Amino acid sequence: MSLVQQPVGIIHTPYQQKFAIPRQPGLVNSAVGIIQFLPQFSDPNMLRDIEQFSHLWLIFQFHQTTEQGWSPLVRPPRLGGNKKTGVFATRSPFRPNNMGLSVVEFVKVVYQQGKLALHVRGMDLLDGTPILDIKPYVPYADALHAAKGGFAHSPPELMSVNFSALAKQQILHFSTQYPELQTLITEVLAQDPRPAYRTDSELDRVYAMSLYNLNIQWRVIDGCCQVQDIQKSA
Ligand code: SAH
Repeated sequence: MSLVQQPVGIIHTPYQQKFAIPRQPGLVNSAVGIIQFLPQFSDPNMLRDIEQFSHLWLIFQFHQTTEQGWSPLVRPPRLGGNKKTGVFATRSPFRPNNMGLSVVEFVKVVYQQGKLALHVRGMDLLDGTPILDIKPYVPYADALHAAKGGFAHSPPELMSVNFSALAKQQILHFSTQYPELQTLITEVLAQDPRPAYRTDSELDRVYAMSLYNLNIQWRVIDGCCQVQDIQKSA
């Protein structure tokens, strides 16, 4: 049996590459994403009453890793990136059917010139991710207070983040276009996006990530992230 799925829309997010995307939703709440519905799903009736729900589930395709396939065992970052566990005991993108599931905050619906868009906050999705379905988050059924979270029971520890004098000036320069840039960079780096498994030779490395059309470089100094340079991508 095979199933063919058609996305209802494509989400646009600040995250231009997989590296540095938060590993779950709700960790970087300054990040706003816009789901642009495909023409055949641009009927605003489809979103009637959705504003009654503060949060939504997004079902999506891990489209960028689909071709890499899957295996029964994966190495989740929460286990240090070096220990294997069963794919169905993880939220890894490398899974049969490559479907992802994220709860996000509802922001607003915009319907202009026949184009339907849904704005959300806090997603962990790459720019351009196909959205397969959207459902309201229903607290009485979905929030289970006695649930056990296995090896991912509590949120990851946060790193502190600071900005060099140069980076502070650059933030000011980009603030008209991206008013929440400093908060966004801080929240993203506080998650420590570096690969969980590292060798000592990587301690002094300069890391780079892209958010929107910006290339952001940082280093880890005495256990803190220091943002050093923010440039428009070439
Ligand atoms: N909350 C989702 C996703 C968890 S994995 C779930 O549980 O199903 C989150 C990681 O997926 C991100 O850190 C990013 O590296 C990766 N990712 C996000 N969008 C992707 C996409 N479109 N294709 C491949 N990987 C993606």
